[in-house]
Amino acid sequence: MRMLLANDDGIYSPGLLALARCAREFGDVRLVAPDVEQSSMGHAITHSRPLRIRRTPIEDFDAWRVNGTPADCVAIGLDGWGGADIVLSGINLGSNLGNAMWHSGTLAAAKQAALLGCRGIALSTPTGEAEPDFERLAPYVKLVLERLLPEAALKLVNVNLPREPTGIRWTRQSVRHYDGSVVPGEDPMGRKHFWLTVHPIEEVEEGTDRWAIRNGLVSLTPLRLDLTDLATLERVAGA
Ligand code: MN
Repeated sequence: MRMLLANDDGIYSPGLLALARCAREFGDVRLVAPDVEQSSMGHAITHSRPLRIRRTPIEDFDAWRVNGTPADCVAIGLDGWGGADIVLSGINLGSNLGNAMWHSGTLAAAKQAALLGCRGIALSTPTGEAEPDFERLAPYVKLVLERLLPEAALKLVNVNLPREPTGIRWTRQSVRHYDGSVVPGEDPMGRKHFWLTVHPIEEVEEGTDRWAIRNGLVSLTPLRLDLTDLATLERVAGA
């Protein structure tokens, strides 16, 4: 199995290295990732300037850095490698739950794979007071790969790993709340500025990705590219 690895934290992220070490047990691995952090870039692509790809030393891995977005890396990576069986993106330093999926560069790399007719899996884990313990997560990352890699029908899956996993659960995206907010401040010259941030959401609905992480379970959410609201389409088209 040929696995192209990407992320949005940048080629030198410990999360990418942790994923590469796990993935190489399942086949051939190539790393193509942004040269600097591209978190929250979503599914942006670069069309107004040329992109470059350069080999970069990451242990003994076949690793490359690109001066572009996560989606750029997957497009260039798949093209340069003559395709792959699957694109794995992550492990992101920070979870990608619920409505965060709209902004996630980690998930965008997996989505770009799906758009190009390849399969994509995004993997993320919370960060905060402590850095993720990738040694502890490794057995669960391998369990997830063992389960998902052979399932060719799984085109796009969003995986989130809690800090200390105790199990694995299929979930749906939590969409009831949006935790983004704008926090105003002032710079040293007295000018107004703003920070876009997120606030923790207290309630969670059972069966969702957020609920799984809250309960120490690895969350697997199958996704699709078609955003059409079928119920509304039927209503308005039939009216
Ligand atoms: Mn990131």
